[in-house]
Amino acid sequence: MTTERKIEGVYGAPPAHWVGDGFRVMGYFSAIPDIQRKLSPFLLFDYHAPYNYPPTQNERRGVGPHPHRGFETVTLAFQGSVAHHDSTGSGGVIGPGDVQWMTAASGILHREYQEKEFARAGGPMQMAQIWVNLPRAHKMDAPRYQALAAEQMGRVALPDEAGVVRVIAGEYQGVRGPAKTFTPLKLLDVRLNRKGRADFSFPAQENAGLLVMKGAVSINGKTHAAANDFVLFRNEGEHLSVEAESEAHLLVLEGEPIREPVVAYGPFVMNSEQEIRQAIDDFKRGAFGELAD
Ligand code: MN
Repeated sequence: MTTERKIEGVYGAPPAHWVGDGFRVMGYFSAIPDIQRKLSPFLLFDYHAPYNYPPTQNERRGVGPHPHRGFETVTLAFQGSVAHHDSTGSGGVIGPGDVQWMTAASGILHREYQEKEFARAGGPMQMAQIWVNLPRAHKMDAPRYQALAAEQMGRVALPDEAGVVRVIAGEYQGVRGPAKTFTPLKLLDVRLNRKGRADFSFPAQENAGLLVMKGAVSINGKTHAAANDFVLFRNEGEHLSVEAESEAHLLVLEGEPIREPVVAYGPFVMNSEQEIRQAIDDFKRGAFGELAD
């Protein structure tokens, strides 16, 4: 017998804000009480709903050089294309279906902006950025960068033409995604046709949530969620079924919590105040490297 995952809440979209001049995002985690603990290891979830940009001559529409330490930034492109480069010399461009998994760990400086051809032409952008915490043992590792192309993702076609699950990280029905992670977690990009159903089973002690990016769904046959709603699950029960009331697109986050103190200060997320002071000092003396134009 399986037990149903209980739902903590369904949260509507918070007001959008701008990250630099290139990304109009909604910061769900600032609007949901205690979510950094309830959805650990995920620390932040910024969703950029579809938005149409006018053409520009600005080749750096986005956000200028800034540091990160102690976690990973995961950027997913659904429409449009996003460029990045950092102080280790890594960088790249991601387009629809691609994911950039950047492990800041001990520290990087980077800039994030609309890819220049996209910016020049303008058009619709849809993307998300998720911050994933690192356990104490890996916060000061060397930075690392994974460019994950759309064609590398795991792919599970659901029965009865219900839809498709793309596996970015972790596994679904035995199919693994390409992302290397420091703690067990799943990131699933789910498309359902109208009346299509997807089933998930997540251990009760692991944390889980999902964002509806398009359409409307019914969860376990009773809870309704529509586009731009975020659904947070309780640590009770395991089984989830999601049925699409209309053609739907979802992002599912699931992971084993990191049971350590979280002390966050802007772009630094560590375990103690002392480590935050150290991060600020290191940043001021240039230990995060340099980012040339
Ligand atoms: Mn950044």
